[in-house]
Amino acid sequence: MRLRTFESFWLLKNGLLYTYPSVQKNISTEIVVIGGGITGALTAHALMDKGYKVTLIDKRDIGQGSSSATTSMLQYEIDVPLSELSNMIGSYAAAQCYKAGIVAIKKLEQLVKENKIDCGFEKKESLYLAHSEKAAQSLKEEFEIRNKCELGVMWLQAEEISKTYGLKSYGGILSQTAASIDAYKLAHELIHYNAGRGMNVYDQTELIDFDFGPKKTTITSSEGHKISCKKAIFCSGFESTKMIKEDVAKLFYTYACVSEKGIKIPKKLKNTLVWDTNEPYLYLRTTDDGRLLVGGEDSSVNFPFFQQQIKESKTSKLIQTLGEILPDVKFIEDFSWGGTFGTTKDGLPYIGKSPEFEHALFVLSFGGNGITFSIQAMDIIVDLLEGKPNELADYYRFGR
Ligand SMILES: Cc1cc2nc3c(=O)[nH]c(=O)nc-3n(C[C@H](O)[C@H](O)[C@H](O)COP(=O)(O)OP(=O)(O)OC[C@H]3O[C@@H](n4cnc5c(N)ncnc54)[C@H](O)[C@@H]3O)c2cc1C
Repeated sequence: MRLRTFESFWLLKNGLLYTYPSVQKNISTEIVVIGGGITGALTAHALMDKGYKVTLIDKRDIGQGSSSATTSMLQYEIDVPLSELSNMIGSYAAAQCYKAGIVAIKKLEQLVKENKIDCGFEKKESLYLAHSEKAAQSLKEEFEIRNKCELGVMWLQAEEISKTYGLKSYGGILSQTAASIDAYKLAHELIHYNAGRGMNVYDQTELIDFDFGPKKTTITSSEGHKISCKKAIFCSGFESTKMIKEDVAKLFYTYACVSEKGIKIPKKLKNTLVWDTNEPYLYLRTTDDGRLLVGGEDSSVNFPFFQQQIKESKTSKLIQTLGEILPDVKFIEDFSWGGTFGTTKDGLPYIGKSPEFEHALFVLSFGGNGITFSIQAMDIIVDLLEGKPNELADYYRFGR
């Protein structure tokens, strides 16, 4: 008998940190940010820093979307390898997108430090493993290209990886810049901080209708209240795909689980994010409370009625695959969960104006490193509002 559905580890660990009132009257503001996940939290923070009058709304409580399910590995590496992305958008542009990821991780480190935000931020390295001999050949080529672009990479042989990390592989790329966080906590703390400096925050407030104009936008909530503003910025996550006709992302379901605390793993593995070339890829990271987190097993199948059973079989598969590549570690499952995930054709996000909604802005940080894209959006959105050119905005544009 199933008395409850499953919840993500971060939600259970942190609980509901802060709640806010819902909109109960018509209001007027300068900018409305729709979505109180990590993207909305970072975007709103950047806007508050610039002195805009900001109102943030969410139809759920804060952080209850993908930001509570995410495994929060911060990587400069995009799901699409640099070599492939270069073929799609040109080698200069592709290198700029990769480099922007490095800048973003450093920017977040600074932000967390300056504002003393307790969100488990840990600087790490990232290890991209070849899962087969064939994959090792193309990964070596990928390494050469990344090395030429000075992305701070080293090639490690399989023997060295096994000795240092206890991982079985066919070699891999070690990257210097990476980090991990608790995105749920970060989103909550950032929104709370900005509420303290004058941002209006409303949870349980769903946008159901809008009227976008060049000078004025009016948003209607499910309870019929109107919010008028100069600009609406959609940070509404994967659900945004319902309002946009452009085929921006392919959605599927993905799974993750964490071990009990105090798992014994090689010392170097504690400070390293790991992912592999398999499809779908397996990934690992440690948490700041001494657990090992493993994720992957993406699937396009998501029958709500069988969610619990599917999650259990996906978790068993994750632990089995982990045992194959990390044979000397005893992983005892503590929590497991699943969540919707989306990828784009080139691994890049969609940030800016959609031709379908000329007067609104969107931050759709899809892909394996969605959070790194959300950090990049902080500068992009401010530049777009101020009418300044932004190179990344061009690579991340709608209609590309
Ligand atoms: C299992 C899993 C693992 C992942 N691992 C990683 C990882 O390691 N690294 C990484 O970078 N990314 C990862 N991701 C992706 C990452 O979770 C997302 O990129 C990120 O959480 C997106 O944040 P968001 O704020 O855009 O979306 P969300 O957190 O979903 O926030 C959007 C918010 O908008 C609100 N909303 C939607 N529609 C409306 C409306 N009409 N009115 C009002 N509010 C609305 C929702 O309630 C929601 O709170 C992972 C995702 C999953 C599921």
